[in-house]
Amino acid sequence: MNKIALFEQGISPTPIVKMSGNYGENQYYIKREDLIPFSFGGNKARKAAEFYKEIRACGADVVMTYGSNSSNHCRIIANMAASMGIACHVISPEENRERLYNTRLVEDFGATVETCPVTEVSGTIDRRMETFRREGKNPYFIMGGGHGNPGTRACVNTYREIAAYEEQSGICFDYIFHASGTGTTQAGLVSGKLLLDAGRRENGQAVSGQKIVGISIARTQERGREVVRQSIEDYLGARYAGLYRETELVFTDDYCMGGYGKYTPEVAETIEEVMKSDGIPMDTTYVGKAFFGMRRYAEAHGLQGKNILFIHTGGTPLYFDLLDRKNRESV
Ligand SMILES: *Cc1c(COP(=O)(O)O)cnc(C)c1O
Repeated sequence: MNKIALFEQGISPTPIVKMSGNYGENQYYIKREDLIPFSFGGNKARKAAEFYKEIRACGADVVMTYGSNSSNHCRIIANMAASMGIACHVISPEENRERLYNTRLVEDFGATVETCPVTEVSGTIDRRMETFRREGKNPYFIMGGGHGNPGTRACVNTYREIAAYEEQSGICFDYIFHASGTGTTQAGLVSGKLLLDAGRRENGQAVSGQKIVGISIARTQERGREVVRQSIEDYLGARYAGLYRETELVFTDDYCMGGYGKYTPEVAETIEEVMKSDGIPMDTTYVGKAFFGMRRYAEAHGLQGKNILFIHTGGTPLYFDLLDRKNRESV
């Protein structure tokens, strides 16, 4: 099994920069998780670095996961398996047939893609794991989107980087916004904050009123919130009851726009605006949609003069899918 030097050495803190564009009556900063230097980066690369440790520790010879044709997670996992020289098996819903950059990349990394109806995903996963074991293989399964404790742990690190930046720069973020999908990123950020706040309280230090706001890109308020809460509980374990407060979890489905992958023309306009002003590419499924949602949220809640951090969670290949769509429309 080959080592990946970047994952061995650990992910370096990603840049936080002030944004130049005028996005409303607040100071906007952005954390560039998209610049993590592996396979176009993003939060899935950060999570993969944690799964990498688990895979090496158990000596797996095949990594299996689940995701759609547009999945950033599947791209990164397929890339990681290729770098490690182990097999990769991706289960994908047959309903989405469109070929996107991530679809192609997963294939180019040599992953086997098995499609099945979306309703049969979990049965297909179980059967395939069984088959691998019968064949004498040692498979490692990663939930879709890199959900699970290693993924949460990775995003606790993201929060630690933010706290270190605040300490160093003297800038305190009143709000942190990000796209919330499987909820792992939000669970990590909130867990990171709860642990840090607990430490501060123990030392008699003040605790900030910072809010972490997850902009749902697909899930309803009810389901999305519950999954994030459950992930926090899974991660904090015995410390959960003492640390968790309902008010620490802010999750909104006001900007879902009808579900996964769906978006309004305003999202595409926002993406163009950010690219022009700040030279930062965003996609329509996650980051652009959440950035747009954040601006609407700030308006709706009358936020003014606040320091706001937006986390760019990646998805760069999807930016090119958007350009392809625009090209097709213009011919
Ligand atoms: C997966 C993903 C998200 C959502 O992260 P979760 O941890 O699943 O909530 C956000 N942005 C991008 C670009 C992603 O690929």
